[in-house]
Amino acid sequence: ASSNDAILHLDQVTRRFGGLTAVNGVSFDVMPGEIFSIIGPNGAGKSTLFNLVTGVTPLSSGRVAFEGSDVSTVSVHKIAGMGISRTFQSTQILMDQSAAYNVMLGLQRESRATLVGAIFRSRGFRREERRCRAIAEEVLVRVGLGGAGETGAAELSTANQQRLAIAMAIASGPKLLLLDEPTGGLIETEVDDLMHLIATLREGGLTVLLIEHKMRMVMSISDRIAVLDHGELISIGPPKQVRNDPRVLEAYLGA
Ligand code: ADP
Ligand code: MG
Repeated sequence: ASSNDAILHLDQVTRRFGGLTAVNGVSFDVMPGEIFSIIGPNGAGKSTLFNLVTGVTPLSSGRVAFEGSDVSTVSVHKIAGMGISRTFQSTQILMDQSAAYNVMLGLQRESRATLVGAIFRSRGFRREERRCRAIAEEVLVRVGLGGAGETGAAELSTANQQRLAIAMAIASGPKLLLLDEPTGGLIETEVDDLMHLIATLREGGLTVLLIEHKMRMVMSISDRIAVLDHGELISIGPPKQVRNDPRVLEAYLGA
């Protein structure tokens, strides 16, 4: 496959914070429908890379293209509208609101966010609210939270709050979903359930970019893995290849 077919294309992506180069000349392509994982020791630059792709942090140099369009200088809001979504941090779940209400908030993150605001003040309010509710219920079913719409977010288990975070992120119908360590706080059986959910979402056509430290999960779910160390891409390929790469072992065992 040529890079023209890539859903996401990174070309020499670099981000410096003062004297520290958090992400250093990273280039790779993510193909449509892939589950593509990014691993590496703490401080390797994984989260910064997500911030660069989503427009949260400006690039120091290099280029990011989404579906062939340069998004290197595009705003967070516009990038979200183009179809790149990430899980909200758990702090962005409104704990005193229902699960369905939270998903509706996720819906508003789509490109028509301002339009939704306008509609809520207009005569179309009730019809639009019904439409949003119907979408929220459907999305909750997709993540395995069917029937939990009216449950308060605070009453959900950690694992179900993680599902809710995913529901909020996919409500607007993104093409590329970024998940930053979604297994945080989960026990092993919950990790398996989450893995199953991610695989199901991919079957539904979503491309997934995953930062994860649980190796069992990464090795079994990923089509390809990129390994970052001190901001640099040190290995990329299918799980078996990356697992046997001496550079990766060295990075993890500490040189
Ligand atoms: P990872 O997610 O792989 O653990 P990060 O991307 O969070 O790593 O961080 C990579 C490096 O960049 C770390 O050394 C971190 O301290 C630094 N860093 C991240 N964000 C900032 C920031 N906003 N300002 C200064 N340094 C930062
Ligand atoms: Mg991180």
